[in-house]
Amino acid sequence: MTEGAKPLRVLVIGGGVVGLSTAWALAKAGHEPLLFEAGPLPNPGGASHDQHRLIRAPYGAERGYTRMVSDAYGAWNRLWADLGRQHYVETAALGISLQPQEEGDHWAASLATLRDLKLDHERLDALQLGELCPYFRIPDGAWGLLSRPGGILLADKIIGHLAGWLRREGVDLFPETRAIDIDPEAGAVRLADGQIALGDAIVVAAGAWTGKLVPALAERQTPQRQFVVFLTPPKSQAAAWADAPAILQFPTALDSYGCPPVAGTRLKLGAVAARRACDPDALEAGSYQEAEALLAPFREILTDGADYRVVGYKTCPYAVSHDRERFLTHREGCLTAITGCTGHMFKFGALMGERLAATATGGLAFESFARWAAGEEMVA
Ligand SMILES: Cc1cc2nc3c(=O)[nH]c(=O)nc-3n(C[C@H](O)[C@H](O)[C@H](O)COP(=O)(O)OP(=O)(O)OC[C@H]3O[C@@H](n4cnc5c(N)ncnc54)[C@H](O)[C@@H]3O)c2cc1C
Repeated sequence: MTEGAKPLRVLVIGGGVVGLSTAWALAKAGHEPLLFEAGPLPNPGGASHDQHRLIRAPYGAERGYTRMVSDAYGAWNRLWADLGRQHYVETAALGISLQPQEEGDHWAASLATLRDLKLDHERLDALQLGELCPYFRIPDGAWGLLSRPGGILLADKIIGHLAGWLRREGVDLFPETRAIDIDPEAGAVRLADGQIALGDAIVVAAGAWTGKLVPALAERQTPQRQFVVFLTPPKSQAAAWADAPAILQFPTALDSYGCPPVAGTRLKLGAVAARRACDPDALEAGSYQEAEALLAPFREILTDGADYRVVGYKTCPYAVSHDRERFLTHREGCLTAITGCTGHMFKFGALMGERLAATATGGLAFESFARWAAGEEMVA
């Protein structure tokens, strides 16, 4: 905030990583955030609540998002400084391709972008992959892209400690307080108990629920249910998994990812095919059978695959952007909203909070923010 400027009262709707980070950045800038969260804080039913989230530079040909990852590390470092601890484990990040590089799949495009932007990476052949990842059966012709930095953000620790930091700083947090509707011209938010909150600006970071509050965004995204499974690896593979990179793609044609069991977390596996459209207010619970079904094709490509045990599973809703999974933004009156965060916003959480706070309070033009958030351009 520039000297002499009046602090703004900003109503933040949503207490996931984006809303909490926005409140963090607003409070640091001397503004007065008030955060409303429909569930508890932190909310286990939101997309931000899980043991881990991946952060990685490879983003195919998307130069904007690739660069944004470097900036995201800067924002995480600012957050670690405030929290007094780092909730991140550097492991490097590995994507495995089954396509010849000249066919130009996502990994070939990522390799070209990382090379172009002079970001640290290595191309591994099938032999090197086998040495690095003894827990995989690596098909002939497979190759890998290993990039650094990359690793695991300890998601539930981050949002828990962020909420704690905000409380200690005296930020008004309102858990179990659902926003029902918004008047963006009047800066008014009607709450479920009938009260009206008034602010100079409003930020909506309501994840998969955003379409219910901001009709202009409803048609541009679809809330989807995602399902992940937690595993115990066989004894023969436990040591190798404990030292594994973040897995951005398993050696299979199924679009999949995995988090190694770092810092007391479990080995986790997810697959994009497991997602389906949902109402985030009526999320279908998962089951052991669903977890086994998700794991079944992976047993084939895992060494001693039959010996992996399902020890848990989790469902979460996120909003899938219809625009090539790029983040979607909206400005109306004093309201700034973001959605369409799919499976890739967590890594940008702290950075997105800083940029949303700046946009809501007039420090950053909405048009620049919107282009940047869509991965199109860098903010100067
Ligand atoms: C299984 C899975 C794996 C993922 N993996 C990765 C990964 O590896 N790397 C990565 O970067 N990203 C990943 N993501 C994506 C990332 O987790 C999400 O994009 C991110 O957490 C979204 O944060 P958010 O704050 O926008 O939404 P959320 O965390 O969903 O928070 C939104 C909050 O708003 C609240 N809310 C909604 N409506 C209202 C209302 N009317 N009033 C008050 N409060 C309201 C909700 O209760 C909720 O708590 C993954 C997501 C999932 C589900």
